[in-house]
Amino acid sequence: MNNKIKRIYGIDLGTTYSSISYVDEYGKAVIIPNAENERVTPSVVFFDENNIVVGEVAKESAKLYPNEVVSFIKRSMGEPNFIFEYGSEHYRPEEISSYILKKLAQDAGQYLSEEITDVVITCPAYFGINEREATRKAGEIAGFNVRQIINEPTAAAIAYGSLDTSSEKVVLVYDLGGGTFDVTMIDIRADSVEVICTGGDHNLGGKDWDDRIVAYLVEKFQEETGIKEDILDDPDTWQDLQLSAEKAKKILSQRPKTPVSVTHGGNRVKMILEREKFEELTEDLLERTVDFTSEMLGAARGKGYEGFDEIILVGGATRMPQVAKRIEKEFSIAPKVFDPDEAVAKGAAIYGWKLALNDDLVRRISEKTKKEIDRPENLSEMIKKSEISADDFKKAAQELADDTGYTLPSVENAMLRVKNVTSKSFGVVAHNPTDEEIVFNVVLRNTAVPVNAKKKFYTAVENQKTVLIRIMESETSDIEIPIENAEEIKTAILHLPPNLPADLPIEITFDLNGEGQLHITAVETSEFRQVQVVVDTASVIGGEELEKAKERSQTLVVH
Ligand code: AMP
Repeated sequence: MNNKIKRIYGIDLGTTYSSISYVDEYGKAVIIPNAENERVTPSVVFFDENNIVVGEVAKESAKLYPNEVVSFIKRSMGEPNFIFEYGSEHYRPEEISSYILKKLAQDAGQYLSEEITDVVITCPAYFGINEREATRKAGEIAGFNVRQIINEPTAAAIAYGSLDTSSEKVVLVYDLGGGTFDVTMIDIRADSVEVICTGGDHNLGGKDWDDRIVAYLVEKFQEETGIKEDILDDPDTWQDLQLSAEKAKKILSQRPKTPVSVTHGGNRVKMILEREKFEELTEDLLERTVDFTSEMLGAARGKGYEGFDEIILVGGATRMPQVAKRIEKEFSIAPKVFDPDEAVAKGAAIYGWKLALNDDLVRRISEKTKKEIDRPENLSEMIKKSEISADDFKKAAQELADDTGYTLPSVENAMLRVKNVTSKSFGVVAHNPTDEEIVFNVVLRNTAVPVNAKKKFYTAVENQKTVLIRIMESETSDIEIPIENAEEIKTAILHLPPNLPADLPIEITFDLNGEGQLHITAVETSEFRQVQVVVDTASVIGGEELEKAKERSQTLVVH
């Protein structure tokens, strides 16, 4: 009954596992299993001659072919120097990630007998400009129409909010995934999901807990056998231990102890790992998550949010029982474990579904009123301002509900507003009064987006021909910071007309949209001459390389 609106799928592109979801004919988000009948797919890519293999088989192959298998690619998203070489070809993180997306879409398409074209993809809240753009490009290379990139905690909150839309609340989303940790405060209302503050560490996740087990096993092995060499130098042993450690960790979420064995160079050592020991080995990691949470709460207080109503745990690693225990001890609120592996993909699917309903509603209202609605997100504004009558809106919503079988409230509530903050500060390199080179931040982290901020800088010398604009990203909240605390994300050169005096004002505008895309304009204002700067995105795939990746993606089969 319900194939009349375009389906927009939600994809959780995770560090260790990925999944895909859609909203079914009853308005419920469901995970689509892969060809192996699993609900999550390991984010692992195996280059097997002319085949690309993604998922469990790739993960298992890592042991036999460590140099042909790529894992944890998400950690390298947006990194200009990461190139994986296979045969005579070079692959960037965007392209490798595109294979994971392709595998999810291919399997889901087969399961549902329909082609998947439009998607919402999630990324960690702390992802900066380049990482977000890289995520979008990964989707494009896979052949998708990427409707939006949304934050993982926001997606989780949407999935959570969708269960109970009657109450308004402030929730803390504590997300400990395979490779990343983020914590986000979100204000959930009936018609909006607003991120207040976000924090975390992109190098802290379940894998670090695995690494502690690995280190412990190596130590025990050395003790038992007297072997002093670093057995992790052997790639086979390393792979083997990684897999056993992750398995042991998962078992310890259920049981108080587990047997583990280490085999290397003909020696085999068996041992029992107890949960208590595991917790002791990893206590400092858990403490770091608590510290990040407290730091974020401090920033939220600065924005007038003194407390929160609930804590929800997402991310596979929150299944470790010590996480909920520690959180409850710290904040005196029992956290809710809510679909830790699936909430993000489901939330993205619900968001995509709302986008699709909203698109359809806009189309119907446009047809009825003969009014152009150029931006669907403006619909609620137009109704508020009576540019569109409540009656036309109601009629269109009723028709859409009748045609699709979805409930009228779900159609009427499709206009969900997602408000976000920037997780990074952005600025430019400038000279301070004592002539030191510093970064001057123009947009500070945790500022609500979209944001448009301007700042005047001045040329240094007479008849200056060019101005080098170095756009810097950082995780501090200070206005002036040393260069080494920031990362250069883009550069641009502004060419000036001849014979200008020194101290000429150059106004730089930072325009950061709701999805974290940054546009920069520099204007030389002395004689009302306007010079637009085209900023190149240095660290994300583009141009010929992007075209090549797309082409390669068309011809390669992903298994
Ligand atoms: P995610 O990125 O959210 O898929 O989280 C994946 C991480 O969760 C990996 O480090 C997994 O090893 C970990 N994980 C999954 N299930 C469990 C479990 N039952 N106990 C402990 N960790 C788990």
